[in-house]
Amino acid sequence: MKISTEGVKSFIPTAQIEEQIVKAKNAPASQIKDIIDKSLSKQRLDPMETAALLSVTDPELRNMILEGAHELKERIYGNRIVLFAPLYVGNECINDCVYCGFRISNNECHRSTLSHDQLVAETQALVETGHKRLIMVYGEHPMYSADYIAETVRTVYDTKYKKGEIRRVNINAAPLDIEGFRTVKSVGIGTYQIFQETYHEETYKKLHPRGPKSNFLWRLDGLDRAMLAGIDDLGIGALMGLYDWKFEVMGLLYHTIHLEDRFGVGPHTISFPRIEPANGTEFAERPPNQVSDEDFKHLVATIRLSVPYTGMILTAREPIEIRNEVLRYGVSQIDAGSSIGVGDYSNKDEESKKKSQFVLGDTRSLDDVIYELAQHGYIPSFCTSCYRAGRTGEHFMEFAIPGFVKRFCTPNALLTFAEYLNDFSSDRTKAAGLNLIKSELTKIADDGMRNSVVEKLAELNAGKRDLFY
Ligand code: SAM
Ligand code: SF4
Repeated sequence: MKISTEGVKSFIPTAQIEEQIVKAKNAPASQIKDIIDKSLSKQRLDPMETAALLSVTDPELRNMILEGAHELKERIYGNRIVLFAPLYVGNECINDCVYCGFRISNNECHRSTLSHDQLVAETQALVETGHKRLIMVYGEHPMYSADYIAETVRTVYDTKYKKGEIRRVNINAAPLDIEGFRTVKSVGIGTYQIFQETYHEETYKKLHPRGPKSNFLWRLDGLDRAMLAGIDDLGIGALMGLYDWKFEVMGLLYHTIHLEDRFGVGPHTISFPRIEPANGTEFAERPPNQVSDEDFKHLVATIRLSVPYTGMILTAREPIEIRNEVLRYGVSQIDAGSSIGVGDYSNKDEESKKKSQFVLGDTRSLDDVIYELAQHGYIPSFCTSCYRAGRTGEHFMEFAIPGFVKRFCTPNALLTFAEYLNDFSSDRTKAAGLNLIKSELTKIADDGMRNSVVEKLAELNAGKRDLFY
């Protein structure tokens, strides 16, 4: 792969963003309300509007923003939460990102890459708990070429085991060249996710001192190359704690606007992980711009309002209490039952910590997470239907097409949830889940749709699988 950034220009106006954040301070309540209303009318916000939301410190106004984000989520997306798990394929890495346990200079990291058989074993272990959607994660290393990534994705899709299989594989790996993205697209991936880490170029350069990732523009241009290769299902993200979180949210917004302007389609998902402690990694113990819990909630709500059409991903890096609360403010996907050590799902040992990228805040099993979601009235969903029916850009459809959620998303969530309850759940989760399904059915206003879902649920009970609209 040849790394070249000839002709590539940054679309991040650094000085302008800093100015916008200062200028937008102290917006009156009436202006904040207008901005929330704009978002509730399904319009993406402009940078100055997002900056105004970000700059709010008054607790009452912040509350208004949290509730605005909650209302937007309820109104547009309803109460589904999509579940997935990360699958770490290999932790070899030639970069030196100062915050990461896999960085090349970390001598405490135990390096390993799954063999074919180990990858099958990991996939089987995940299938056995009921997972249907994975994100496969790779360090950056010549071993993990586009061909290698494609081959490992194929292995996962080919692994049918007992009662299930993985139906959608997303990728979190280093940016590729256009040819490489084409190769990976050819095996039927879902989302290709690349986090910019920080959109502040000077900070980026300090924190990524060597390896291909030290090239800010190559990474920033990564998702453009993916688009040019025909992958239009993309995930952006910033690692919170490296630089001012307000700047990073503005960076995410500018990245969104850039993709909209150049390709007519914005990102499918936005991620906003906070830095977690990592083995042998002093930087991650005390990140220079650590984000407090209060600011974190505020930034999640602000992202929800700023880009109302994207999926938002909240990972198990966060502790349970934060996860439970932040779900209200617009999150659409979470991972559950996650292990982030290479090989940990099928063979967890004492060395696990040394093979892990960082430390997780939420280590509950998938079944425990699902039980709690059901208790709180969320429908856990393993839906992969849009992607498999060729309806790409599903988040945009959910958002833009009136009735789409009622016609497709909620029924599919109920069917995949019922499949989970039939095949994988504990007794207590099954009881809570069946109650939830019963009450959700009463909320389907259209008689035809409700009868159709009831019929399909009966087919599931009779042994049919993988039913979707
Ligand atoms: N190696 C590829 C890359 O850097 O893009 C792909 C995957 S990397 C293993 C996944 C993401 O983990 C990174 O993009 C980074 O944002 C995040 N990460 C790294 N160290 C972390 C830490 N200490 N806490 C939380 N997230 C971290
Ligand atoms: Fe390697 Fe990715 Fe970790 Fe950086 S974040 S050291 S590229 S695995």
